[in-house]
Amino acid sequence: MAATEHTASYYAASIGQAPTWPALSEDIQADVCIIGGGFSGLNTAIELAERGMSVVLLEGRRIGWGASGRNGGQLIRGVGHDVEQFHNILGAEGVLALKQMGLEAVEIVRERVQRHGIDCDLAWGYCDLANKPREYEGFATDQCELRSLGYRHEVRLIPQQELHTVIDAQGYAGAMLDMGSGHLHPLKLALGEAALAQQLGARLFEQSAVVAIDHGPRVRVRTAHGSVQASHLVIACNAYLGGLEPRLAGKVLPAGSYIIATERLPAELAHRLLPQNTAMCDQKLTVDYFRLSADNRLLFGGACHYSGRDPKDIAAYMRPKMLQVFPQLANTRIDYHWAGMIGIGANRLPQIGSLSDHPNVHYAQAYAGHGVNATHLAGKLLAEAICGLEGGGFELFAKVPHMTFPGGRYLRSPLLALGMLWHRFKSLG
Ligand SMILES: Cc1cc2nc3c(=O)[nH]c(=O)nc-3n(C[C@H](O)[C@H](O)[C@H](O)COP(=O)(O)OP(=O)(O)OC[C@H]3O[C@@H](n4cnc5c(N)ncnc54)[C@H](O)[C@@H]3O)c2cc1C
Repeated sequence: MAATEHTASYYAASIGQAPTWPALSEDIQADVCIIGGGFSGLNTAIELAERGMSVVLLEGRRIGWGASGRNGGQLIRGVGHDVEQFHNILGAEGVLALKQMGLEAVEIVRERVQRHGIDCDLAWGYCDLANKPREYEGFATDQCELRSLGYRHEVRLIPQQELHTVIDAQGYAGAMLDMGSGHLHPLKLALGEAALAQQLGARLFEQSAVVAIDHGPRVRVRTAHGSVQASHLVIACNAYLGGLEPRLAGKVLPAGSYIIATERLPAELAHRLLPQNTAMCDQKLTVDYFRLSADNRLLFGGACHYSGRDPKDIAAYMRPKMLQVFPQLANTRIDYHWAGMIGIGANRLPQIGSLSDHPNVHYAQAYAGHGVNATHLAGKLLAEAICGLEGGGFELFAKVPHMTFPGGRYLRSPLLALGMLWHRFKSLG
């Protein structure tokens, strides 16, 4: 495979000279081999190295090349969607534990960034925006639940007439402000975590795509110019897994999401758009998510394409969505635009577990658009399981079955695209 660089984005353009790691060129041994250099792989490496394991991480392109280095940067509480649906499988205690872990996931990021001084433009404050009055009413229930879970951060309902305190936009029915969630520069975080993993003794390799896995009590993975033998393997490739492990790939639908970044806005205008510098996310099926960067650009993301085809001109496609929210940016230049793949599972719960026929092969994937926090939790749970520590969290996730999408590698997305069109057609009828 030819050497690949980070995808052209605001993030890649704002990190200066990206550090590099060598390609694997020999046969080596480790306790654990990890495939994938995004947040899932990097955090598993950190957690394992902290527990004294020898770790090798193989990234096919650049560290942070996948979704982790190009996402919306929104760090939002919670894992999964409607976790009450797992009541039959996990019981009330299990569901409660999932909710608690959804809060813990953000705290893992907070602690990692603070303790290790990772410079990633982390800012606190996030708003759920209601498109409809009944969504705003639903926020009151969310607020009560967060209180009952002992959430220690400020959560405030913002009625429509006070929305100007968080956003200069029309058309929303209200918001819920959460000061325990926030936003950050994801590629800086990924590279900071890679440096930390290395400091802790993990060996990182880039441009080292795994092409084959030989299973056994000591699993062997092969790249074009080397191999790693290890007692445990972690597969952390999410939407970019391709055909490497078809059983895992069949449970994840890669869906395209798109982001534009404006030119730097005058500080006064930036402050007017988002007076509290909060990240924002609305409630539409194909969410709009947006925030300011540390240098006052508006980063506006959205869409969810299951078809496998990206728009020809992402800037032209996303700009009208941005102007619908902020028509005052009609004369603002778009400096960057890019695409990335979200990994979506049928029930929207992250898939964390081990392969049934190869118990020394573990995985974490399918975070939907909500992986910045959940990947950090997954890293901790995977490391605890591999080290034989009884945390309980890994077992809970592993208990939940996940549907394999019909259609095989090439038909999965078109079939789902048809399903989504049908759903939309019905909801219009
Ligand atoms: C446009 C976009 C916006 C998003 N916005 C948000 C957001 O605002 N907030 C949020 O919480 N989540 C968001 N997400 C989701 C979030 O980014 C992901 O859930 C998370 O980054 C997944 O991390 P990961 O490490 O599992 O996968 P990735 O970061 O995708 O890493 C997987 C890595 O595996 C590597 N790989 C694949 N195959 C091989 C192989 N054979 N050998 C070696 N390496 C291989 C890939 O090169 C890749 O680098 C967004 C995603 C996208 C695409």
